[in-house]
Amino acid sequence: MSKMVMIHFGELYTKGKNRRDFIRQLTQNIKEVSAPFKVHIETRHDHIYIKNIQENNLQEIIKRLQNVSGIHAISEVVEFPLDLEKVKQFVLSLVLELKPKTFKVITKRKDKLFPLRSDEVNRSIASHILKNAEIKVDVHDPELPLRLEIDTNRILVVGKRYDGLGGYPLGAAGKGLVLLSGGIDSPVAAYLMIRRGIKIAAIHFAAPPYTSEEVLKKIENIVAKLNNYQPCIRLYVVPFTNLQLAIYEHSTGGYAITLMRRMMLRISTIIAKRHGYKVLVTGDSLGQVSSQTLESLVVINEVTNYPIIRPLATVDKNEIIKIAKGIQTYPISILPYEDCCTIFPVTNSVTSPKLEDALRFESKFDYESLISEAISDTKKVDISLNNSEDELF
Ligand code: ATP
Ligand code: MG
Repeated sequence: MSKMVMIHFGELYTKGKNRRDFIRQLTQNIKEVSAPFKVHIETRHDHIYIKNIQENNLQEIIKRLQNVSGIHAISEVVEFPLDLEKVKQFVLSLVLELKPKTFKVITKRKDKLFPLRSDEVNRSIASHILKNAEIKVDVHDPELPLRLEIDTNRILVVGKRYDGLGGYPLGAAGKGLVLLSGGIDSPVAAYLMIRRGIKIAAIHFAAPPYTSEEVLKKIENIVAKLNNYQPCIRLYVVPFTNLQLAIYEHSTGGYAITLMRRMMLRISTIIAKRHGYKVLVTGDSLGQVSSQTLESLVVINEVTNYPIIRPLATVDKNEIIKIAKGIQTYPISILPYEDCCTIFPVTNSVTSPKLEDALRFESKFDYESLISEAISDTKKVDISLNNSEDELF
């Protein structure tokens, strides 16, 4: 007998002919998170199995699998050759060890060539247990359900089951670029995209020397938490200082934030096109702050025709905070830091900016060369679960 883990796909069943690609992608993602443990992965049409697991790695492997999107559930299983006698010995030893009051054998026969039918297997195993242990059968609510699966070349005894994350396998639905600030919202937006199978990269706008190295550390720590759901994430850090200074010099009337957001979207669009990210993602939530009124979003959005997904557009702050706590980004997000948008106090930010005014301010300086400079000075780094880097920049 050997112990292994069985992975259930759940939602994938509905995906018809895409299913094979999804399973291939999921297998790849499972390989990535289990790489340090030197296991063997076996992909079949209905389940993925992880074999050769060392007992002391089992819980860590299961914990990692619980964060892999596209996995519906995970079960511990024990594998036997096609030999019912060995299975009988094993389940009897399990009963004698766990001492449940009631049990039930539930057999699934995937290979119809096996000489006994499912109910015959159930009866044969149950009578062996009843003969050798103080225990009763309870078909409705057994304390110990004993699940068996009979395959072409093996019998599996299915043990403890753990919930998975659900959703779709990461990478199955393309790549997106998340505008990641140090706030609460954008990491949650990133997580929600990952759960839908969108592989993400992050782009952060920093304003050195006004924003400190600690801000970058903070962003890096947030990305490291997101690594639990996507093992490797590319982070682009764009130096934004010169654009910001120009905006402060050439605008008035509380337009700074609007203009900065427009610059961020312009730069993100160029980087996304260049590297094949199909959508931009932001943490905008309607009505939260002045830059997120509907009028504001329209004026900001006007600079790009690139698709933008705002997963939090209609989500309440309480709900966002709940998710942020669940994915452990919350305590990092609430640490005080200077955002590139807060280094110069902006008073009376407009809530209903006018496009003509935004265009008029922008016509006063050569933002296109500043954008080109910012892009050519952009740094990128890959942050990953298996070898997190200490020195980033
Ligand atoms: P967050 O909590 O994500 O910062 P917020 O509610 O504070 O969101 P804003 O600060 O107005 O809202 O930012 C709106 C969105 O713009 C953010 O969710 C993020 O996607 C993007 N954004 C803002 N500042 C930055 C930045 N410095 N770098 C990258 N993206 C940013
Ligand atoms: Mg913010």
